[in-house]
Order: sequence, then structure tokens, then C-alpha cells
Amino acid sequence: MNPNQKINYHTILGKLIDDWKKNEIRPKILVHSCCAPCSTYVLEFLTQYADVTVLFANNNIHPRAEYEKRALVQKEFIDKFNKKTGNNVGFIEEEYKPADFYRAVKGLENEKEGGKRCTICFQMRLDIVAKKAQKLGFDYFGSALTLSPHKNSQLINTLGLEIQEIFDVKYLPADFKKNNGYKRSVDMCAEYDIYRQCYCGCVFAALDQGIDLNEYK
Ligand code: SF4
Ligand code: SF4
Repeated sequence: MNPNQKINYHTILGKLIDDWKKNEIRPKILVHSCCAPCSTYVLEFLTQYADVTVLFANNNIHPRAEYEKRALVQKEFIDKFNKKTGNNVGFIEEEYKPADFYRAVKGLENEKEGGKRCTICFQMRLDIVAKKAQKLGFDYFGSALTLSPHKNSQLINTLGLEIQEIFDVKYLPADFKKNNGYKRSVDMCAEYDIYRQCYCGCVFAALDQGIDLNEYK
């Protein structure tokens, strides 16, 4: 295959879902999310076929007040979503350990968003979700990150597939922005009145965008 050829992970997920339906399986999936907006459509889509729990594991977010706000908004969205749809999506918040993020990206502080620092950041969070999914006996681990048009879904899926080799749990391939997923997430954010942050999460991205972090404290 041409190494530059893009893989359609949305189609791959579709085939997986067809298999679940054929075999009358409803798998248990642990999905990483870094804040509520990307989780909206992901939950609407996946809960049709699977039992889903969201893992909020984001050592990258700075400052702590912003981390806490995003965690709270994520939890509140899940509560409202469950009430409105009759679903039973779970929520787990991982311990916040920002020092782990700074250690992992040491030397990559000046990278632009989308560069090597982000690869490490995705890897770190996918590692955490895979480990947790294995520990808690989930069938799959995945991430809502592919919903964002700003995130490299080819890279995220490649990392997820590599990480599944280390753990005894399968990675859920996906590209949630497809199938009008991103557009639907924007509509759902309005419907549920969800806070949308204006920087990705880490201090480096925020400073690069000229954001005054004092306002966030
Ligand atoms: S990619 Fe951005 S919008 Fe999506 S969940 Fe993460 S921080 Fe939020
Ligand atoms: S810009 Fe976003 S994905 Fe990249 S390192 Fe910072 S928080 Fe992580």
C-alpha cells in the first residue's frame, strides 16, 4: 500500500459494528475524552451499539482550574445526556498528574501544535486509557479525539493500534469527524449549552495562541 494513502477508519469501525450486530454483541468500550464537545457525537453514535464509559485522563491540561472546569463540564454533559436519552454512560476521572505530562514532553515545549509534542501527548493519554480498560475488563479502548478537525486521526489511530499490542484489550479504530460527526457535535454543544474552550489544553499551546492564562485561574 502507498504509505501516504489515508486509511478510512470510519469505514473500519462500520465493519466492526456490522460484526457486533451479526454476532449480537454489545461490547463495553472505555473512551478517552479531553472535554465535553468531542464526546457529544461520539456518545450519541457509539451508544447505539455499545455500552460506553468515558475516561477523563488529561494531565496535559493547564492550569488546574481549567482542568477542573473541563472535568466538571464533561461529567455534567454525561448526566444530561443519560437523562435525555435513557442511556447509562459511565464517567471515570483519572488522577490529575500534570508533572507526568511535563516529563513526557521535555525538550518539545517549543513544538507547534500538531507537532512531536502532540504525538507524545496523544500517546500518553491513549496509554492511560488502554491500561485502565484492561484493568477494568473493557472490550475496547478508544478516544474521542478523532472528532476534532484539528487532530490528526491517522496518527491517533496508528498510535492506538500500536498500543493495543502492549495491552490485553483491543483498540477501537474510528474517525468520528466523518459521517457529519463534527457538525453534529457543534449542534449538540448548542443543544446542551456546553462550554467550548479556546485552546487545546497545555500551557504551550495556550501561550502560542496568546491566551492570558491568568483569566483561567
Ligand atoms: S480535542 Fe479539543 S474540543 Fe475535542 S475534546 Fe479535546 S480539547 Fe475538547
Ligand atoms: S497542543 Fe494539545 S495535543 Fe498538543 S501537547 Fe498541547 S494539549 Fe497535547
